[in-house]
Amino acid sequence: MPGIHEIEAKTLLAHVKQPDTWFGLKYNMNIYRGCQHQCIYCDSRSECYGIEEFGDVLVKVNAVDLLRQELPRKRVKGMIGTGSMSDPYTFVERRYNLMGRALAVIAEFGFPVHILTKSDMVLRDLDTLRTINDVHALVSFTITTTDDDLARKLEPGAPSPSRRLKALQTLAGHGIHTGVILMPVLPYLTDSEATISRIVDATAAHGAEFVLPAFGMTLRDRQRAYYYDQLDALFPGLRARYEARYGGQYHCVPENTARLRTLFYERCAAHGLATQVSRYMPPAQSQQLPLF
Ligand code: SF4
Repeated sequence: MPGIHEIEAKTLLAHVKQPDTWFGLKYNMNIYRGCQHQCIYCDSRSECYGIEEFGDVLVKVNAVDLLRQELPRKRVKGMIGTGSMSDPYTFVERRYNLMGRALAVIAEFGFPVHILTKSDMVLRDLDTLRTINDVHALVSFTITTTDDDLARKLEPGAPSPSRRLKALQTLAGHGIHTGVILMPVLPYLTDSEATISRIVDATAAHGAEFVLPAFGMTLRDRQRAYYYDQLDALFPGLRARYEARYGGQYHCVPENTARLRTLFYERCAAHGLATQVSRYMPPAQSQQLPLF
């Protein structure tokens, strides 16, 4: 049975070793392991991440204390990112408020932040984000379709795309940097030109600064098994098309990718939307370390 389990973590912030050209991160932070949004395509189910029961959420109850210890020891005040392995605004956050309290600590120490989420719960922390934005606060919402009904099947636990877009608009209205992560693009489900156009148009209409795309999806071991089971339940017949086209491939790219790319870049240019995050990254600052 899926459940919520409290754990004591040893560390919180992980260094991002290579320069992160995708999200601009220097440090990565995951307060939770597992995610209640339960997107059917989620890569975090893959065996390499070692999360046996992805329906479970492990709550790092000492996360805020760890952050308070770790931040003063960082040589560089680089971008702290969160949301790549589990959504920081998964439902359980409503009960624990660990993300809200972590942001308050980040504001206190003057670090920039990049939050990736599918939830409008982020609005709860608007005041703290405005303070962080004195340095730099960026919130990116993942949008794979603007169709709320389809999203309910693909991302059954996450707030609808329309709620995400409204939240984006509110944040942008308060000067917070915002963008859309357009990934994954699921073959035969979200790879139509109409889907891509609607996402780009909606991103521009709600005041975001950029859309970051990845045309296709990854599929491996447990992630593939779960995705195919969900295809059988929700979209009968589709698994056979995947198996015929992709076999055991890791990268699964839609047949019409070249057309989608052209359309995407043309439409972004027409709206004046950037297609990468790096343009919005502030330069990393050094900080004086305590002597003892
Ligand atoms: S919100 Fe992200 S981490 Fe959570 S299930 Fe969906 S894809 Fe996975």
